[in-house]
Amino acid sequence: MPHRTLSPLARCGALLALGFLALTGCSRAPTELVVYSSRNEQLIKPMFDRYTQETGQAIRFVTDDAGPLIERLAAEGKNSPADILLTVDAGQLWQAAERGLLQPIESEIIKTNIPAHLRDPQSRWFGLSVRARTIVYSTERVDPQDLSGYEDLADERWRGRLCLRTSKSVYNQSLVAMMIAAHGEERTEEIVRGWVANLATEPFANDTRLMEAIVAGQCDVGIVNSYYFGRLVRDKPDLPIKLFWATLAGEGVHVNVSGAGVTAAAPRAEAARKFLEWLTEAEAQAMFAGANLEYPANPNVAPDPLVAAWGTFQPSPLNVAQAGELQAAAVRLMDRAGFR
Ligand code: FE
Repeated sequence: MPHRTLSPLARCGALLALGFLALTGCSRAPTELVVYSSRNEQLIKPMFDRYTQETGQAIRFVTDDAGPLIERLAAEGKNSPADILLTVDAGQLWQAAERGLLQPIESEIIKTNIPAHLRDPQSRWFGLSVRARTIVYSTERVDPQDLSGYEDLADERWRGRLCLRTSKSVYNQSLVAMMIAAHGEERTEEIVRGWVANLATEPFANDTRLMEAIVAGQCDVGIVNSYYFGRLVRDKPDLPIKLFWATLAGEGVHVNVSGAGVTAAAPRAEAARKFLEWLTEAEAQAMFAGANLEYPANPNVAPDPLVAAWGTFQPSPLNVAQAGELQAAAVRLMDRAGFR
């Protein structure tokens, strides 16, 4: 038998000896796509199955939080079996790209289907679904005519009436980062200090608790991601709360994405690109967004009827990549302003 160095078998043997069993690429068929996903199984598996049905392309996935997945990609380096990183929040995608873990994908299909402000300017990742982080209010105690921008929640007429999620949430870090992009640090700090002064109670650990506090009468207004509102009212449509489409710097609603990119070491970059292109087309977009009550990133695809019922909004035109670029500044600013 001819001796071949670095045969797949030999590499697997070595890795097995080192104890790497789960995802070394040794146990998979050579054409199988591997996706690292911080979106959980129930949200991704139906789409993956559909793609396999349509194209014969097998897909394997590993789910974990974004942080550990990014660390894992970094640790695996060029031996990583992953082809695609799928995660939520542009800030996380930006981090992965900055650490050199994603490669640029040139695709006319993706450029056509996904608006520029939802894509990395260097084409290393792009949004697949959109979530609005906007104002939620009590329909019993707030006249929506009194609402406008995120900035306005710093006004003293909201004293003791505002509920916020903790500043540890990447969602709030991204929102404040975008406010810095729009207003600069000085003005943004003034606004965040105003929010803190208006708080009815300590910041909440999650958006759902915040909305429950509004329903319970603990506060009157807050800021939440649209899909958490969707989950709550899907089960309890009569709750006395509503979304208001807030403006950022008088323009659109602050949005963020869940999205994906091809990993820098992808063994099957070409197949990965094709799959990501498919994810931007109508059928996959409806499934991808619908499963989590989000908005399709492709503006030609209609959202789920429950989501569509909240009305349409103009998204902020700022590129979501700035959520990453300004995230560290946002964290420092919230700390200075006493937002815990
Ligand atoms: Fe979330």
